[in-house]
Amino acid sequence: MIKKHNTYLDYAATTPVDHRVVELMLPYFTEMFGNPSSIHAIGQNAENALELSREIVANLLNCKPDEIIFTSCGTESDNLALRGIALAERERRGTNRILISPVEHHAVSHTVQQLQRHFGFDFDVLPVNEYGQVTPEILNEFISDDTAVVSIIYANNEIGTINPITDLGSICKSKGIPFHTDAVQAASFLPLDVQSLHLDSMSVGAHKFYGPKGVGVLYQRKDLKLLPTQTGGGQEAGRRAGTQNVPYIVGMAEALRLVSEERIVNIQHIQPLRDRLIGTILEEIPDVELTGHPIQRLPNHTSFVFHGIDGNKLLMGLDVAGFACSSGSACKTGDPEPSEVITALGFDRDWALGSLRITLGKDTLPDDIDHFLMELPGIVASLRDL
Ligand SMILES: *Cc1c(COP(=O)(O)O)cnc(C)c1O
Repeated sequence: MIKKHNTYLDYAATTPVDHRVVELMLPYFTEMFGNPSSIHAIGQNAENALELSREIVANLLNCKPDEIIFTSCGTESDNLALRGIALAERERRGTNRILISPVEHHAVSHTVQQLQRHFGFDFDVLPVNEYGQVTPEILNEFISDDTAVVSIIYANNEIGTINPITDLGSICKSKGIPFHTDAVQAASFLPLDVQSLHLDSMSVGAHKFYGPKGVGVLYQRKDLKLLPTQTGGGQEAGRRAGTQNVPYIVGMAEALRLVSEERIVNIQHIQPLRDRLIGTILEEIPDVELTGHPIQRLPNHTSFVFHGIDGNKLLMGLDVAGFACSSGSACKTGDPEPSEVITALGFDRDWALGSLRITLGKDTLPDDIDHFLMELPGIVASLRDL
């Protein structure tokens, strides 16, 4: 049952769909239901909406429309990019090594593990600094002629840290090595211009920026070969078969347009609330540390470790008090192991198990933060007394 006073502070897990987006989507379920691959007028109506959405997204990413591949989610985009590029590059250049960071989403890290176990690839997990960043020096050390593809997350979901993507991208570009980034968390707040970021490939998922769940984008530079992993019809120029989800794609394009247009307003609203949350928690609660970078982090993102506390118990305590937060990645709920991302930052187990993520959104009110800050110290203290 949803409690009456439920304050949502988990925008990194998902966001509500913007009402303006829902409005725009609705006709595409009914009146404009056509298959965009059909030749007749009803099909062509859907095709027009699909291609308009592609142009909108391409404009926002500063690429060409035929460099946009619509997928079913951020996870699929990551999978298609990693598997598709690794296999194509091995065929083209005989390269066998994949470089990732230890703070990738499982959509990247588990794909790379599978590529190693079942497809004969090797991979290196690049070391990160205490904030979870891959530095250009580190990438320079590891990149080689045998590198098939480099994938480094743009902004991390668990700790909010932003990576120096432009610098990493220009290293890859100068060596002619394909560079992919998972921009699923970054899309709401950070520049997505794939040219100035020096990206060959970038994944985005709509439900992290007030669009619907179950739809995503893969930007893939046109002259970079990609072996399709989903084969069938010729949709998405043969790179991703399957009839496109037109209503969701229309909704995603509108959501991305709105979030880009309203980016500065949203940041001006959210970032001061984030800073108050971080400042107050560090000041008023003993034995707590911020995880991730203090400045180079997403403007809506706060994450901490509380010494000697079980993060899941903390989440449950907060839930009872009416606050929806997260302890790292949403997929890990119930997992008693400390998060790999927090561990990669160098925290011991008795710190890492007590992780808490509080992420804000455009509907977060100053009152929500005040109430949260009134409740949290007592909940932490009572768990430590047990
Ligand atoms: C949410 C998320 C994903 C997965 O996206 P889905 O659309 O939920 O599949 C991938 N990477 C990051 C960084 C995410 O935050």
